[in-house]
Amino acid sequence: MTEYIECIKCKAKQAYFRKETQDYRCGKCGEIFTLNSEGTPEEKVEKIERIKMPKEQAKEAWKKYCEVLRKRKDKFLRTMKDAMYQMKEGRELIDVYELISKFGISEKNEPVFAIARADISEVIFEKQDTGSGRYKMGEGWNRYAEDINSDVHLPQKVFDVHWERIDGEEPNNRGWGIKDKEIKTKVPIIPVELIPEGDLKNYYILWEVVDWEDLPPPKDPILLKRISENLFAVLGCWDVTELERSVMRGLQ
Ligand SMILES: [Zn+2]
Repeated sequence: MTEYIECIKCKAKQAYFRKETQDYRCGKCGEIFTLNSEGTPEEKVEKIERIKMPKEQAKEAWKKYCEVLRKRKDKFLRTMKDAMYQMKEGRELIDVYELISKFGISEKNEPVFAIARADISEVIFEKQDTGSGRYKMGEGWNRYAEDINSDVHLPQKVFDVHWERIDGEEPNNRGWGIKDKEIKTKVPIIPVELIPEGDLKNYYILWEVVDWEDLPPPKDPILLKRISENLFAVLGCWDVTELERSVMRGLQ
């Protein structure tokens, strides 16, 4: 007999265990979740897959890439060198495309995760066809080149979705008529003990958004250093405090 537990989202006692995927699915709202070893719902952030390598091994590889790069200029070699550099320093890496794709979109048709440059107070997500989008650093048509260059573009089909259309519009591939084409949310501020050296422009924050157009709840944001379009090194994570939420609320 199927045993039902309470859904972490809608609270209906209709979530059942799925053997194939080793997780729970709510029969009412469709939420999928897992429980950690204590039997409480696992934070999504705990489930983010990290790319790791022993420091010594990364150091050896890093040296080799440095060597090769004296004669060659290929971009992938530079990315590999930078990735090895971070791992020889003991850091883990995250593939943001994979992560954002894995957690997908909420029932409100919004990405579950947001990523923003650490020096901005608000990030915009622009929905693009097909199943893609862009995290925009800054607003308006006259953004600086450095803002545009620091955007995080998602490739096609990262989201398994055709974005919802404004009523009466037929789905098409021209990007017109997408409902709530741009949504925005406030970026968590970094606690003093995690403030990195140098300009905050060079760092990113990744976090789970419960409601876009609202303040992020105190879930664990992650501080990142960008390596390539989609690869980032993890520098630390933290819980947002009530005080930080208040400060964020007032930032324009
Ligand atoms: Zn539910």
